[in-house]
Amino acid sequence: MSKAVRIEGRDAALSELATLLGDRFTTASAIREAHGRDESWHPVAMPDAVAFAETTEEVAAIIRICAAHDLPVIAFGAGTSLEGHVSAVHGGLSLDLTRMDRILEVNAEDLDVRVEAGVMRKALNEHLRDTGLFFPIDPGANATLGGMVATRASGTNAVRYGTMRENVLALTAVMADGSIVHTGTRARKSSAGYDLTRLLVGSEGTLGIVTEATLRLYGIPEAVRSGVVPFESIESAVDVVIETIQSGLPIARIEILDPLSIRACNAYSKLTLAEVPTLFVEFHGTEASVAEQAERFAAIASEHGAGSAEWASKAEDRTRLWEARHNAYYAALAFAPGKKGMVTDVCVPISRLAEAISGTLADLETSFLQAPIVGHVGDGNFHMLLLMDPSDPKDLGEATRLHDLMVARALSLGGTCTGEHGIGEGKIKFLETEHGAGVGVMRAIKQALDPKNIFNPGKIFSA
Ligand SMILES: Cc1cc2nc3c(=O)[nH]c(=O)nc-3n(C[C@H](O)[C@H](O)[C@H](O)COP(=O)(O)OP(=O)(O)OC[C@H]3O[C@@H](n4cnc5c(N)ncnc54)[C@H](O)[C@@H]3O)c2cc1C
Repeated sequence: MSKAVRIEGRDAALSELATLLGDRFTTASAIREAHGRDESWHPVAMPDAVAFAETTEEVAAIIRICAAHDLPVIAFGAGTSLEGHVSAVHGGLSLDLTRMDRILEVNAEDLDVRVEAGVMRKALNEHLRDTGLFFPIDPGANATLGGMVATRASGTNAVRYGTMRENVLALTAVMADGSIVHTGTRARKSSAGYDLTRLLVGSEGTLGIVTEATLRLYGIPEAVRSGVVPFESIESAVDVVIETIQSGLPIARIEILDPLSIRACNAYSKLTLAEVPTLFVEFHGTEASVAEQAERFAAIASEHGAGSAEWASKAEDRTRLWEARHNAYYAALAFAPGKKGMVTDVCVPISRLAEAISGTLADLETSFLQAPIVGHVGDGNFHMLLLMDPSDPKDLGEATRLHDLMVARALSLGGTCTGEHGIGEGKIKFLETEHGAGVGVMRAIKQALDPKNIFNPGKIFSA
């Protein structure tokens, strides 16, 4: 197809979309720009237009128009992803799902909920509060459930409750030909054919547009205790994490923050924590089980020379602590004005965590870049937040070098290049190294489900 024909096709698609959606379709440049960027260092790539869908049927009608004219479609949730996931590298339509924000059914007796894709995770938990239930997956940002499905997100609670992979029961999705599919039921398990739910979870908007999700819920624990535990060295903190997990202690959250992260969090969240390697931990259960878990953890920590822990049982103290942890990325950015974040995201088997972190620290020692380290270490997942100016080739080159080293080390330790953020455009090169021939299988799936490559082209694989 010639370029002129392609452009004509795009114009026709945009005009049909304008007619279909009225004022829920826009080409205003400020809105396009806001939809062509995420929260990371990746450059903005603006879509040609933005559409705000309100129903599954409307999404299907939009996709049929886009498919007929080969117009790329980039699903957009809250735009909090970190690897250039939403940038419109080939132009096209940004399909904003945030107006699909209805909570459709709460089945308290079965511990599940059905939501539209644009529901935000915090709004879901506010809605659920009176039922005594909660949805545990908590990426640091307030993301949409559709975006969390699409990135296979996790967060601080994953060590106890799993990730989106374990907590999505079924999806409704619009496929590249405009058909609407339901990938599962409310049953807790099923052996019925290929697992389309798990295929779409983590597909980053490249295989289908998720419009509804059925999710697992959990009872709000009777007792919760959170603590902040200081250490003399990162190595001892990491040893405590490894021993805690290996001992089978059912810890709900265990997060590491290095001294630089603590300094940034103190300044940003008005805390007064000692600027030393620190673990943030939390236990869930009954009063008795929480006390027992905390005691077992304290014994492991003291064997590794932990300083005296500060414990919080009151909800407001805990909220303050975890908000500070969730804001660690923004705290780091505020700490280095003018810099952006390259947020690395490796995950390794727990027994190899110490090697992964100490190797990263050694790399950083000889670098001129500053990079706080934080992580969901109970899963073997941690981030080196490389603070750099992407327009400065020296900064970008050094950040890329450090990231490459970190990923190579993680892979050699049996880990992955991304524990939770996904591939987007930023980690395409690592996917080949990690999956080898598996990438060919992924491409075959993409080709079968989206032969015209209209869904988020240029992500996961280069187009
Ligand atoms: C401060 C901060 C902390 C973070 N902490 C974590 C963390 O702890 N754990 C973690 O996992 N992530 C974390 N993230 C990353 C981010 O919050 C997650 O990736 C989140 O799941 C993205 O959701 P979103 O609604 O913002 O999606 P978006 O950024 O809008 O989209 C992400 C991807 O999903 C696709 N998509 C969005 N909606 C749909 C849909 N309905 N159907 C199909 N595809 C769709 C998009 O096309 C894109 O490829 C963090 C980000 C920030 C800024």
